[in-house]
Amino acid sequence: MQKKINISAFFLVFFLSFSSFAIDLRKEIRERKIPTYIIENTSYVSLKSLLRILDCEGSWGRVEDRIFIIYDGSEIKFKLNGEQVIFRGKTENIVRPVKEIEGEILLPVDGFDNILAGIEKKSTVSSQEKETDVEKAPSKKKGKGEEFIILIDPGHGGKDIGAVGYFGLKEKDVNLDIALRMANYMKRELRKSPHVKIYMTRHSDIYVSLEDRVRMAKDINAGVFFSIHANSSRDRRQDANGFETYYSAEKENVAFLSPPSNVEGLKEDIGYDSAVAKILEDLSTTSVSDESRILADFVQERLAERLLTPDRGTKRRNLYVLRYTPMPAILTEIGFLCNPNIELNLKDVEVRQAIAETLGKALLDYLKFRGIVSN
Ligand SMILES: [Zn+2]
Repeated sequence: MQKKINISAFFLVFFLSFSSFAIDLRKEIRERKIPTYIIENTSYVSLKSLLRILDCEGSWGRVEDRIFIIYDGSEIKFKLNGEQVIFRGKTENIVRPVKEIEGEILLPVDGFDNILAGIEKKSTVSSQEKETDVEKAPSKKKGKGEEFIILIDPGHGGKDIGAVGYFGLKEKDVNLDIALRMANYMKRELRKSPHVKIYMTRHSDIYVSLEDRVRMAKDINAGVFFSIHANSSRDRRQDANGFETYYSAEKENVAFLSPPSNVEGLKEDIGYDSAVAKILEDLSTTSVSDESRILADFVQERLAERLLTPDRGTKRRNLYVLRYTPMPAILTEIGFLCNPNIELNLKDVEVRQAIAETLGKALLDYLKFRGIVSN
């Protein structure tokens, strides 16, 4: 019998037990001193600020010009330059279009205030924050209000399936399930460190381009980018085995470049030999690479403790999401899906949970090592 995980049921865990009250957008803007922008006589607020108000900075995504926020289990969807918002299946007209200016997504206060008035605010996180601020005098550099954001990136999704096993298991599903479990584990482990927030590049089976993953990491100012994948060997060898973790030795954070046009871009090295690559190399931020390497080593160490499969080591590779994220970033390949034994293992909920917790422990090792959370 195949054990199948009900992702939606799992997903609900994040949204349980919130007490609630209605949201007054204008009041929030006033009280929190949130900046607004006047464009063509209309007042706008940034998507980032709105997510902060909703306390769901990790629960949003963007697919081309469509943006969605998952709030309290419901979706709020709208389009760039569009004047309609779909919330809980109902279409609401907003007076002015959503805009994107210099990479910042801006929402008209008029219109969004109505939508927010119709929803209720979850309060769990803020009350947790208050408690901890009182009980724990921050001895670390990261004090009150100094967030540290972890962006967990389940590889592939939607039309981009990733590797497929002999029995048909899809990499995109394995990645997502392990990432959700890891996020859940981290949230549990970080209860006492509310300044550390866990976000994900996707929470469901949707396509997110590599460019959008990187953009998201920049937008939310992530401190760590953690990408989860399952491997396949080039010729789908059934005896391919082991786990490995990549980091980029040539970080580039000056310009924003388009990803390689083919979806396989994830697997493609960005040429070492071109003049452009050379220039980028000169601009590279070595220290961020070193940090990535340290994190990758923690991941390999922890996986080696837990898995019986071969340790293929920490490797340098200029994968797009590693190179263009300006923060420490790693991509771990937890096992070979083209190996039917591994595929069967990865179908097992307990194996997935164990891998998720192992990755979580490695990340905690790093956070402790860097003093971001206390021991
Ligand atoms: Zn992959």
